[in-house]
Amino acid sequence: MIVVRVALPVPLRQHFDYLINADPKPQVGCRVLVPFGNRKLIGIIWQIAPTDSFDASKLKAVLSLLDTSPVLPPLLCQLLSFAADYYHYPLGEVLISALPALLREGRNLNDYQPKAYQLTDTGKLLNITALKRAPKQHALWQALQAHQLTESVLLQQHSRSTLKQLLEKQLVEELIVAPIPFTPPETEATGLKLTPSQALAVTAVNHASGRFERLLLEGVTGSGKTEVYLQAIASLLLKQQQVLVIVPEIGLTPQTLARFQARFNVPVLCWHSALTDNERLHCWLQASTGAAAIIIGTRSALFLPFWQLGLIIIDEEHDQSLKQQDGFRYHARDLAIKRAALQHCPILLGSATPSLESLHNALSKRFIHLPLPDRAAGQALPSFELVDLKQQVLQFGLASQTLAQIKQQLTLGLQVMLFLNRRGFAPALSCQECGWLTECQRCSAFTTYHKQSRQLVCHHCGASKAIPRQCGGCGSTQLKPLGQGTEQLEENLQLLFPDIAITRLDRDSTRRKGALHQALEDIHQTGARLIVGTQMLAKGHHFPNVSLVVIVDVDGALYSSDFRAPEQLAQLLTQVAGRAGRGSSGGKVLLQTQYPEHALLQDIIQNGYASFARSALAEREQTRLPPFQHLVLFSAEAHQSIDCQQWLQQVTDFMRQYPALQLLGPIPAPLERRAGKYRWQLQLYSAGRNTVHQALDQLLLQIASWPLSRKVKWQLDVDPTDL
Ligand code: ADP
Ligand code: ZN
Ligand code: ZN
Repeated sequence: MIVVRVALPVPLRQHFDYLINADPKPQVGCRVLVPFGNRKLIGIIWQIAPTDSFDASKLKAVLSLLDTSPVLPPLLCQLLSFAADYYHYPLGEVLISALPALLREGRNLNDYQPKAYQLTDTGKLLNITALKRAPKQHALWQALQAHQLTESVLLQQHSRSTLKQLLEKQLVEELIVAPIPFTPPETEATGLKLTPSQALAVTAVNHASGRFERLLLEGVTGSGKTEVYLQAIASLLLKQQQVLVIVPEIGLTPQTLARFQARFNVPVLCWHSALTDNERLHCWLQASTGAAAIIIGTRSALFLPFWQLGLIIIDEEHDQSLKQQDGFRYHARDLAIKRAALQHCPILLGSATPSLESLHNALSKRFIHLPLPDRAAGQALPSFELVDLKQQVLQFGLASQTLAQIKQQLTLGLQVMLFLNRRGFAPALSCQECGWLTECQRCSAFTTYHKQSRQLVCHHCGASKAIPRQCGGCGSTQLKPLGQGTEQLEENLQLLFPDIAITRLDRDSTRRKGALHQALEDIHQTGARLIVGTQMLAKGHHFPNVSLVVIVDVDGALYSSDFRAPEQLAQLLTQVAGRAGRGSSGGKVLLQTQYPEHALLQDIIQNGYASFARSALAEREQTRLPPFQHLVLFSAEAHQSIDCQQWLQQVTDFMRQYPALQLLGPIPAPLERRAGKYRWQLQLYSAGRNTVHQALDQLLLQIASWPLSRKVKWQLDVDPTDL
């Protein structure tokens, strides 16, 4: 027996030692089933025979070793261990969360690997007449005389029950087929003739092949970033190297997958949250054996094992969905960069609206900067026009000039997209007599009126209830929707344009399986159409028939306490606007606002995102905000507001021994109460990373012993994207 140190998925920041048989040889990265208290847990072997181990006679024994080779190969262990340190999240939870659910549950990997069948020695020597009463078994036995058959081939001619009978009689045995990596294409796939700046970008990526290099492709909307990805991949496939493409939300852009599949004659697989557990494990195996050449996936694809990874691409690298917003709050872009470093392969980040972090890295030459300043097919970028809403009579929230322009485009048979970042019918119901508003009882927020589903829904905690008949303040029955959401906008537009087809794209309209796909299909039809939607519209779609984009209302987003709000708004506006004029006809964007003179709007409209981002970066430098300082956010949640405040005050007091850290807080979170709990936060700024990580390491050793820690649910967010 030897001692192994095991990482377990428990919130404790420590590992646990167990005894295990030395044979078969346990390896780091293999799963084990162990007793833990009165439970059994699956953990990952993290160290073999640790020298600082406790008295072995006091240790419990591992119940079983589940793998003969590591499910987490050394490189992934290194990546995950780095991530656990960096995000100060318990290693055991990080390791386990990187595995597909079926492996977390302890399934045997062999059960999911392709099998083949051959005759046993007994089977080979069997008398030809022995099975004559069982003709099906006889047929299979005969088929196996010549050579072994893979499971899939065998099942084409024979039934599974026949196979089972021969297995039971020990005439046939099962083999695991050695996995075969994908066959590289014979010639490089041909693509479009590249523009000079696209060509430069592809050359730069190819040139970086085989070593760690970070490249930022800053290409305006429609500049052909995807074409750059495709051509950069082409030469790697010839070398039988795999490529990982991380995209924000795969369901939203089925076209991306289709484009990759159409270009290359190699297996392209998808990885996203809508896959079943079996599909996930299949994808995991195909990546790990090299059978898959290209994996297109959402952020957690970052933790897939690869056979020979040659390039990582992060599309829309600015997108907020790359950051996990609860539990293990990692940023997929940042960890992907770490992974590329470990793999010695290049990583290509692409966006029309790069994050200020990446832009800063590009401008300071840490990343290779690859600009694509023009649209690929020569179309002009859409032109912006501000529509001043002050002193205007609006019809359903739309100014008369907006309506006129919509009508004009529809008459030309083109499509108009209306962006409104509020789903539901109305943000609240209000009493006509006393002004009372429907509020969520558990959050400091109003509840959204959903007309179709006849519910009031809180968009923060998800609570829903029936629509009240009476005002909660005065008892009046005069309740009216206040403000406008996409559901109402759609209804109103239908009144204004009764003959025009309307497609709504938001979380409610696309909930039903297949609904999103249908909506996207509809939009790709020619002919006049109105498209109404939330930020779902902003995600990389290529809608060639959209000539006009109307941004119905941004004013709510102009004044926010989050220092990232301007960056995020500029990204959203630019991305939404970028859907216009991608076809042969030019595009235009109408931005309705009460604040046409607002500096941010003026900057984006007159100078575009690239210029905005550079001046925003200068401003961040002056105010010492990220990326010029590191930020860590502590948030605390409890039934009593005072507990949050005091708990964070304790953190604050502890941190005072590190004068290099600047503290902001404790302050109430922007949404002060959510799902019945009060929320506070504390921001920690630091010039160097080391100081803050050391301070956090020390602090985390203490927190568990604080009595208040039992009442407060706290979270730590390193490099938060959402304050
Ligand atoms: P992005 O991802 O930058 O928004 P896409 O890759 O979707 O842009 O490209 C936008 C459009 O331009 C697509 O229809 C694409 O086929 C076309 N395109 C891309 N590169 C070229 C090129 N070199 N020549 C002609 N058309 C191109
Ligand atoms: Zn709520
Ligand atoms: Zn009332």
